[in-house]
Amino acid sequence: MIHACLALYAISCQLCGACWFRNTSTGEMVHHWATGAKGKVNSERDLAGLVCNALGDDRCLNPERGYVGPDQDTWEKRRKIIDEFPFDRWND
Ligand SMILES: [Zn+2]
Repeated sequence: MIHACLALYAISCQLCGACWFRNTSTGEMVHHWATGAKGKVNSERDLAGLVCNALGDDRCLNPERGYVGPDQDTWEKRRKIIDEFPFDRWND
């Protein structure tokens, strides 16, 4: 449980470890991955596709949890990249 004062500036999801920090200029909450890396455009959708849709529940703080769409990273997409990689031509 996080103190309400701190929650105004930073919150972290206990399930996926993602953090949101408030941009003190714009007031917007900015997503950071559990690694600390700042999320890029649509990173909350990527987070949903990789973690929250499978593992999250109502305690998850990701506002995009449940989102499914083409502009999102998923393990299936990553698997497809590996499956379609031309390993047989790697040494040509
Ligand atoms: Zn989460």
